[in-house]
Amino acid sequence: MKAAATSLAAAASSQLNRRAALAATAAGLLALHRPASAAPAATDVLILGAGISGLHAARLLQQQGLSVTVLEGSGRIGGRCWTAHDVPGRPEIGAGTIGAGYGRVRANVAELGVELVTPPPGSRDILGSGPAAFSVYGQPVSRVQWKDSPLNRLSPAERGMTASQLVGHYLARDMGLKALDDWLKPEFAWLDQLSLKDHFTKLGASPEALRLMQAHAPGSNLEDANALHFVRRTFFYGWEARAGKGQRVRGGTSTLTDAMAASLQRPVQVNRMVSHIRSGAKGVEVRCADGSVHRARACISTIPVPVFRKIKVDGPVSAKHRAAWQAVRSTDVVQVFFTVDAPFWQQDGAAAEMWTDTPCERFFHLPALDQPHGIIGAFIGGDGTQALRGMDKPAMGRYALDTLNRLRPSSRGHVAVSHVHHWGSVPTALGHISSWAPGDIGRHEAVLHEPVGALHFAGDHLGRLHVGLEAACESAEASAMQVLDRLA
Ligand SMILES: Cc1cc2nc3c(=O)[nH]c(=O)nc-3n(C[C@H](O)[C@H](O)[C@H](O)COP(=O)(O)OP(=O)(O)OC[C@H]3O[C@@H](n4cnc5c(N)ncnc54)[C@H](O)[C@@H]3O)c2cc1C
Repeated sequence: MKAAATSLAAAASSQLNRRAALAATAAGLLALHRPASAAPAATDVLILGAGISGLHAARLLQQQGLSVTVLEGSGRIGGRCWTAHDVPGRPEIGAGTIGAGYGRVRANVAELGVELVTPPPGSRDILGSGPAAFSVYGQPVSRVQWKDSPLNRLSPAERGMTASQLVGHYLARDMGLKALDDWLKPEFAWLDQLSLKDHFTKLGASPEALRLMQAHAPGSNLEDANALHFVRRTFFYGWEARAGKGQRVRGGTSTLTDAMAASLQRPVQVNRMVSHIRSGAKGVEVRCADGSVHRARACISTIPVPVFRKIKVDGPVSAKHRAAWQAVRSTDVVQVFFTVDAPFWQQDGAAAEMWTDTPCERFFHLPALDQPHGIIGAFIGGDGTQALRGMDKPAMGRYALDTLNRLRPSSRGHVAVSHVHHWGSVPTALGHISSWAPGDIGRHEAVLHEPVGALHFAGDHLGRLHVGLEAACESAEASAMQVLDRLA
């Protein structure tokens, strides 16, 4: 155990050194790739999408003296960085946590004078290791009672774990990953072939553990989820945790993406929904739904794959490209936010935060500056969203409210739905975060990185070392370098 911890620490420290070296050399590499002379054109590079990936790529290319135009399909900047300023408590609808090891994101933060803050401890317990309350088979159970509760039908080895800890426990089993990009090595191809259900079963998970983990399944469900994809993500989160505490952006994550956009010489063009891309060796032509046409010598698409695969793409597109674009999965998620007029949890004595085995999965308690008792957020993900199929947003809100009131009678009369957000129905996202079906990483991951003529790709789904915001910036940097090489 000690040896494993030591080798993990060594791996983490070698990764940190590598990260520091990468961060230090990125500017130098970009300078080396700077094109000798730029031919006159309306714009050198078109960037599709003003999420953090597109904005980071635009800033890097602009720093190298290229003219860059960002086309954004929606009416707002930030993509899956979205602070809901119009909702009580101003919750993050997208990314909230900036990891301690997010070198590229933090470089933007520092350059733009944006501030990071450390959240107060204990307010959000995503690992279930703190005082969260549970609801299992419709009955409340406290964290303390769980181990010996008659509702706990786990195997003796699992009994001490909460539903959420079970997922972490089985995902974090030492699979031999030592470095962040090890998951791409052939020796881990066997894990690519397994679903999470097969993987967890092989590791000895009991049927009840599988049932509880299904309610909290990363991805859509345990059967569809690629084990390598989620083991790799868990390895990344462990690496991140060793790097230090995550932080949040003061004023919300949108403050960062807004500042990134404001730093561009050319304002982001919003409401430019890309519908057709023609790409060749010498450049690209991009058509938008509003009839506008844009040309450039190179282009980087950061459009999420579920949206991108609906766009008409002409050019040297291989059958492998099309197969890969079709294969990428995207998990759905519905978030329901509630205002709280009294600390109802003090009435039943359990924690404010609650984990359930229903489609509503979990009710977070989120601190909020403008709300004395904070706000509650329900997170309904993956196959759990099937319970909401066919409902409009008010009905989704009522479903979540009824569930909370039923499982937690003390909440009755004290919570009200303030906002419902459904990532699956946002036309410029069509889901939450991408993932793979079993076997598809080996079949399709590599081709997603290959350009189509002068059309290059970035986005969080292309991060090979990192996950989330830092993956979005990592892939932006890689594609910016490809573009500089092309235009040199
Ligand atoms: C609920 C939630 C919580 C998260 N929490 C975290 C977290 O705490 N920490 C973390 O690191 N990550 C988190 N993430 C992940 C993080 O938000 C993403 O990894 C990151 O924001 C992705 O950035 P991106 O630029 O690659 O994609 P996006 O942000 O999706 O950007 C793509 C852009 O393309 C635009 N677009 C789409 N279609 C078109 C079109 N046809 N034409 C033109 N433009 C188009 C979109 O509007 C969007 O602006 C979370 C995500 C979600 C949804």
